Order: sequence, then structure tokens, then C-alpha cells
Amino acid sequence: MHIDVLTLFPEMISGVFDASILKKAQQNEKFSYNLVNFRDYSTNKHMKVDDYPYGGGAGMVLTPQPVFDAVDAVISVKQTKPRVILMSPQGEPYNQQKAEELSQEDHLVFICGHYEGYDERIREHLVTDEISIGDYVLTGGELAAAVVIDSIVRLLPDVLGNKASAPKDSFSTGLLEHPHYTRPADFRGMKVPDILLSGDHAKIAEWRRIESLKRTCERRQDLIDEQDLSDEAKQILGKK
Ligand code: SAM
Repeated sequence: MHIDVLTLFPEMISGVFDASILKKAQQNEKFSYNLVNFRDYSTNKHMKVDDYPYGGGAGMVLTPQPVFDAVDAVISVKQTKPRVILMSPQGEPYNQQKAEELSQEDHLVFICGHYEGYDERIREHLVTDEISIGDYVLTGGELAAAVVIDSIVRLLPDVLGNKASAPKDSFSTGLLEHPHYTRPADFRGMKVPDILLSGDHAKIAEWRRIESLKRTCERRQDLIDEQDLSDEAKQILGKK
């Protein structure tokens, strides 16, 4: 996978790629990235990328020209038809399903906004996806793009050390993950559940399944509502 990130503030995002699992994934050639400052593509003599909104009002609007030209440039280098993703609080709410979908692509282009907004023609004629990471407003799209990219890269084949971990993560199964414990078995009188020390793998798997269901029911009833629960699972949760 190759990822291009169009941003006016590359320094806000570079650190994310150069640490931990994302760094290792690049070293192992699982993905590559390029930070593109779209100001470099401005044809304005002062390299401006924004302007006042038609009709008046507060804030500046990103002009279409530098963004369209920067996207054209990254496409012509890679000769692909990438997904072009606009980071925006008005976009589709991001989730694990979308991360899995995007992890199947070969080339992704992220557009990070700043200021008041984008010229609407960017939204209408350039992008394939518009993603929000939540119902709140950030100063720019860089942190949002970093969140999305991190969640995609960890799903690429052989990026995580343990192949089994991603499919069992919260949301991948449709539920929240079960609780975890590690050594010591007794910490300040707080004990690890006996079942986890029993060595009985079938019983441990069953305990984890039940705990995952209970935790999801307590914290995220909306996820439970989307599940086609077995009669047994309904009984565990005390549902009819
Ligand atoms: N005026 C815009 C609105 O009300 O929709 C908000 C603009 S915000 C200050 C500037 C940029 O930050 C956006 O263009 C987008 O790239 C990014 N951004 C802010 N909140 C975001 C969110 N929840 N998810 C994704 N990107 C976000």
C-alpha cells in the first residue's frame, strides 16, 4: 500500500509514521507514504491556498486549484486510481468496518483541511470518501488522518507481530473485547479470575466470549442491537 497525505502542516503528522508499528511496517516494506504540502502546487504568486468565502462570513476557505493539482500529481506518479479521502467533521463516521475496507486498497490519498472549510467543488468532484473521526471539530485534518492511517496499516498482512490479534480486537468481532489479565495472579489482593489460571482452553474461550458479550451490553448497547444473538447469548444477557 502507498499513502499520500496532502497537508499544509506535514510536521503535524510525520512523527506518527516514524514510530512503533508504523515505522516497522515501512522498514518491512508493507507500506510507504509521502507527505505532500499542497501549498507547493499553488499557482498564486504568493502561494496562497485559501480565500474569503463568497457570500461573506467568518474564516477562510481552501481554494480548489492547489488541492486538485496536488491530487493529479500524486496520481500521475503512481499511475493508479486511488481512493481520495477528505478528512471532515461532516463525513461518514469512521469505524473498524471502514478501516477493513480501506486496508484492501493499494493507494490511498488523504486530504487534510484547515481553516473554515473546503471549496465545495473539492468535495463534489475530487474525493471518493469523506470521513469524520467523531462529532467534534479539530483545528485540522492531520490528527484525524493519522488516526485513520494507523488503524488501516495495522490491518495490512504481517504488520502486527501476532496475526491472531487484529481479528479478535474490539469491533472486528462486532463486540468489545473481553478483559485481559497478566502476572501476578494476585496483586495487592486483587485476584485474576480462577478460570484463566485453570489451563482449560475451552472454558477460558467460553469465559472470554461471555465477558465480551457482557461488557458490550454494559457499554455499547448499540453494538448489541446490531448482533443476531443466539438464544444462549440472549440468556446470558438476560434478554428475551
Ligand atoms: N467549518 C468546518 C465545519 O464546521 O464542518 C470545520 C473545519 S475544521 C476547523 C478544519 C479541518 O479539520 C477540516 O477541514 C477537517 O480536515 C479537519 N477536521 C476537523 N474535525 C474533524 C473530524 N471530526 N474528523 C475529521 N476531520 C476533521
